Parts: sequence; C-alpha cells; structure tokens
Amino acid sequence: MSGVEGTKRASAACENRDPLSVVIVGAGLGGLCCAIACARSDLSVIVLEKSAQLTELGAGISLPPNAIRVLDHFGLMPAIRAAGAVTAERYRVFDYHTGDVLATRPGMDKDGRKWMEEAFGYCHHFIHRVDYQRILVAEARRLRVDIRLGAEVREVKCYETGPFVQLSNGEKVCGDVIVGADGIMSRVRTDILGCVRQPQPTGDLAYRATIPRAQVEALLGSFPRLNGILHANEQWTWWGPNSHIMFYPIKDCQIFNMVLLCPDDLPENVRRADADIDQMRGLFKDWDPLLQSLVAQVSSVLKWKLQHMEELKFWTKGCVALIGDACHPSLPYQGQGSAMAAEDGLCLGTLLGLLYSKRQRSQAGGASSSDGTKDGAYEFPLFHPTVPEVLGLYESLRKQRTTINIRGALDNRSLYHMVDPSTIAERNEWLKGLNWEPPENEHEISANLKPKGKCWKWGHMRYQTDLLGWDTHAEAVREFERHFEKV
Ligand SMILES: Cc1cc2nc3c(=O)[nH]c(=O)nc-3n(C[C@H](O)[C@H](O)[C@H](O)COP(=O)(O)OP(=O)(O)OC[C@H]3O[C@@H](n4cnc5c(N)ncnc54)[C@H](O)[C@@H]3O)c2cc1C
Repeated sequence: MSGVEGTKRASAACENRDPLSVVIVGAGLGGLCCAIACARSDLSVIVLEKSAQLTELGAGISLPPNAIRVLDHFGLMPAIRAAGAVTAERYRVFDYHTGDVLATRPGMDKDGRKWMEEAFGYCHHFIHRVDYQRILVAEARRLRVDIRLGAEVREVKCYETGPFVQLSNGEKVCGDVIVGADGIMSRVRTDILGCVRQPQPTGDLAYRATIPRAQVEALLGSFPRLNGILHANEQWTWWGPNSHIMFYPIKDCQIFNMVLLCPDDLPENVRRADADIDQMRGLFKDWDPLLQSLVAQVSSVLKWKLQHMEELKFWTKGCVALIGDACHPSLPYQGQGSAMAAEDGLCLGTLLGLLYSKRQRSQAGGASSSDGTKDGAYEFPLFHPTVPEVLGLYESLRKQRTTINIRGALDNRSLYHMVDPSTIAERNEWLKGLNWEPPENEHEISANLKPKGKCWKWGHMRYQTDLLGWDTHAEAVREFERHFEKV
C-alpha cells in the first residue's frame, strides 16, 4: 500500500468515534496523569511508550502541594502514602561553607499546625520516582487505559479528517486527539510545530544519587545535626557559589536522595552520562564538612545536562496538543517540572471530558424525536465546541503559569548560586527576617520582597501561594463554562 493510500485509510478510520478517543505519546509522569484524567472522564485512551519497560530514572522526586492536589483529585493519596512517601516537615537552608542555618521554612508543622496545608491546601511530599510511576500506571490500567510499551512514535500527522501517529513498526494509530507527552526531545513538537525552538543548555547539570539510611545514621556521632533529617523529615539545601545541593528522605526515610547542581561540563550533545565520583567530590571539597561526609557515602552517580526552552508561541495544532517537558522544560530549581506536567494532564483531561459530555448531551438533545420536537417544543441541539477550540483553551490556561515557573526557576538560581560576598550578606540578612505567615494584606504581600524591591521568590508568600495553592481542576471547569457553556 502506498503511503498516501495508507494515510487515507487511517484518516477515514478516525471519524465518528464514540467515546472521544485520545492517543498519548509518552508514559512519563505527565502522560500518565493525562491518561488518568481522560479515562476518569470516560474517554477512550491509548498511551504509546517507546521504552519496552517503564523505569523512571533518578531516585527521588519532590511532589509540591499543587501536585498533591492533582493526586488527591485522582484519589491516589492512600497509594502514595503506602509507597512510603515522606511528608516534608520543614526546609533548612545551610551556608555552603560553615553549615550555619540561613533559613528555616515551615512544612507540615509550625507550632503544632499543619502549616503547609493551611497555606496551600496540601503538604509537600518526597517519593521514589519508580513508586510514583508504578502508582500512576496501576491507576491508568485500572481505568482501562491501553498502555502499549515498545511503541515508538516516528511521525505525527495532522489532517483535517483527524490526526494520527505512525509507529516505528509502520503501524498507524489514530484518535480524535493526539497528546505529545514525549518529554524534552519531543518528536510530536517537531512534527506539528516544526523546529521553531529547541531546548537550550542552562549551563548547569545535576548529579543524582541516593544514600541508604544506615550510612547516614553512621555519621550521627560526628554530626548530631543529622537528627533533623533522620527523625524530623526535613529537606536540606546548601546554597553556594554557582552550585547548590538538595538532600531529602524518601521510602519511609530508609533512603536519602541527593541532587547536586553545578556548572555543566558535559559535551554539547550528551544529555546524560555516568559520572566520576571523585570528580564530583572534588567540586564540593570546600563545603560544609557534614555535606562532604554525606557526599563521601555516594557509591554511584549519574549526571544530567539541564536544559530549558523559551516559551513556545503555540502548544497545539488542530487536534494535537503538547504537555509537560515537551512544551515547557525548566531548570528543576522550583521542584515543579513533573507537577506542572501533572497539572497539564489534569487540565487537558478535564476539558476534553467536558467537551465529550457536552457533545453527548447535544446528540441526545438533537435525537430527542424524529422531527426535533419534544413535548411539543422544538429542541435545538446544544452547541458544543470543536476539539481545536478546546485545545486552544487548554493552551491559554497553561502557558502563562508554566512560563512563570521557568522564570521562577531562573530567579531561584540567582538566589541560590550567588558569588558576590556583599550580595550574599544582603541575602542572608533578608533570609533571617522572612515571615512565613500567609499574607493577609498588601503590606504583608510585599513584605518578603525586600530588600530594595528584589523579587526573591523563594520567600515571597503571594508568589508561593499562587504556585503551590493552585487548583487546576477547578480552574479548568470554571474556564470551560465561561468560554463554552454560555454561548
Ligand atoms: C535533576 C532533576 C530533578 C528534578 N526534580 C524534580 C522534582 O523534584 N519535582 C518535579 O516536579 N520535577 C522535577 N524534575 C522535572 C521532572 O522530572 C520532569 O519535568 C518530568 O518528569 C517531565 O515529565 P514528562 O512526562 O513531561 O516527560 P518525561 O518524563 O520525559 O516522559 C516522556 C516519556 O515519553 C517517552 N517518549 C519519548 N519519545 C517518544 C516517542 N517518540 N514515542 C513514544 N514514547 C516516547 C519517553 O520514553 C518517556 O517515557 C526534575 C528534573 C531533573 C532533571
């Protein structure tokens, strides 16, 4: 069969599907959240994943309150807790050299209160990536999502009769909607938008490693400070020149996750590589002795080039949409990449679900009687938007928020990686005076912006509330109604 004939046949097969069918390219954390959101709205969902096995790389991931809100909406919090996710009790920032505490930000508990829950609706959790992905896969399968492994998408086509993807084995899969959840090197992005933008190196890389609890406990005699992380679920961060380090517990505090962020020395085209442990230790040899002792426990480590991308003009074309790292990869300095991907997935799934139910109501209304009347009154079929209109709404709801995240991560880099001693002194003074109460008035909103009007967002309660307290589902429902229900 020629390519053209094959295309025609696939396109013809795309028409008149019920329920609305969604093909998601990529079973990463964003694609799986999108699959769950779509399936919960009774849509038919296929996920195509190029890997033969699902194995998230890198051990830990932090799930901020806005991600937890998505997971709670899916009813997955019991599974998340059962997988040993750790609830953050507080965050400590240390001086990279002396180990002095520069700031303590409350997490679960302030004066006996669940501070984060009060401020943002939910607490912050740390989980093993493999557990997180396993939970999402199990839920997607329970909802009858068809997850096809070893299914690499080679091409995406967007015709007026409907979009479809072609796999590397030649098979065509079509749907009413194609979702590109295929990560930072997205094939779908290139196919539908062309090479408008490519991810750019940020100049930083991440070493990622884990340390078993027993090895951390063995250091307790020399460093009593470790009690805070062994027994109080703290997240620790060291901020130093051009680098910072994150350290937090996962798996019921039986494993500690370490991410070391520093200048990129990987060759231009290498995105990930095994790392030389001695070289890594050498980079932090002037740092806090406790940190050096922890780094000495690391037995194997990988390093990742960190890339990001300027805002794309479009995320959608016709019936194809992008989500997650495919359209807004970011430095991970707000711990928000997978959270934003989960929000994208929930937003898109909710909007498509509303479209489908409106379409069903419309069809039911239109078919109420053979002459279009019911009880003597003429019934107009309900208006319902098209898929591209709904995807356009999705794009307009998500773009600004994710761009704010990308910029916020860059602002955090300037805050964490300071080199100039006088600016560091100014920052450290500012940290001491931070007020962590939810702002109640304009004066309090701007209070943490000081000094000199600098917007150091890490301590900006209004910024943090907008970022962490976001309710994606409520926003999607509200905006769908505002745009389409009253037409
Ligand atoms: C060092 C580091 C630390 C981070 N820490 C955090 C954190 O603490 N909290 C947080 O929220 N985020 C964090 N992130 C970001 C987060 O990991 C990503 O933003 C998130 O995983 C993106 O999810 P995604 O589903 O969009 O893409 P991905 O996870 O990249 O998934 C894409 C999937 O698509 C598949 N795929 C690709 N191409 C094809 C194809 N052609 N056909 C079929 N399948 C395909 C891939 O195999 C993959 O499974 C961190 C990132 C880094 C690098």
